[in-house]
Amino acid sequence: MQFHYGVIRQLSELNYHLDVESKPGVYLFFHSTDGPVVYVGRSGNLRERIRNRGYAYYTFMHCNTLHEAYWYECALFHTYRPTLDNKIHPGRLEGGENDCPVCKSKNLLRQGLKKIDRQNYMEAIEEFSRIIQVSADAYFKRGLARYKLGDNHGSIQDFTQAIRIDPGFSRAYKGRGNSHYKTGNYRQAARDYSQATRINPTDASLYYNKAKAHQLLQENDIALENFKKASEFFLQRNDLSMYKQTLDQLEKLQSSQGVNYKK
Ligand SMILES: [Zn+2]
Repeated sequence: MQFHYGVIRQLSELNYHLDVESKPGVYLFFHSTDGPVVYVGRSGNLRERIRNRGYAYYTFMHCNTLHEAYWYECALFHTYRPTLDNKIHPGRLEGGENDCPVCKSKNLLRQGLKKIDRQNYMEAIEEFSRIIQVSADAYFKRGLARYKLGDNHGSIQDFTQAIRIDPGFSRAYKGRGNSHYKTGNYRQAARDYSQATRINPTDASLYYNKAKAHQLLQENDIALENFKKASEFFLQRNDLSMYKQTLDQLEKLQSSQGVNYKK
């Protein structure tokens, strides 16, 4: 399996990497920049944990809580298990949502299969429908994790899977748009943002991102139109800092075109 990480860094240079904070998060270790993932871990204090470990390279993502970090750790553990040095399943946390999402869906699958064995087909369908919904969400979340870890190629695959399972999943389109944007595929990014706005037409950030993509495609008229829509929706939800940022972008783009912007 080939991995495409954008932000693999040298662990010995951690002192200069000030964006690695003393907060919850997950991390991956590598022996070389083009080698496979060899370690997956989580910590409540990412900066402290990854310091002085016996691996040459790392990548990381912050999480809001330790439980969220556990969720991602489990999803990543099962994904990269074949190449890991340590194949022991991540230990569970106390309290809260502490089931591994992958093991949980495997259990649901086993229960569904048992129902089929007992010719309990209606209940089996219910069981499998639950798994399908959970797995769209799991692909989406793993896609987010891969995106944050710099694996744009892998994140695009996961978002695509989530969309296949649930074609009305606007956040998966947005996620895939962001991944395409990161890889410089602005055309595809703009398409995904458009699709997401069809499902969720009042999400201001979609118009903002779409405007940025069209700007980079030098399609300034479409970019202007989308910045305007973004500004309206940011204002509507009272997000004044993004509202102002959007107006700044709008003004800059219009002045580059020689048009005066009237507030
Ligand atoms: Zn598991």
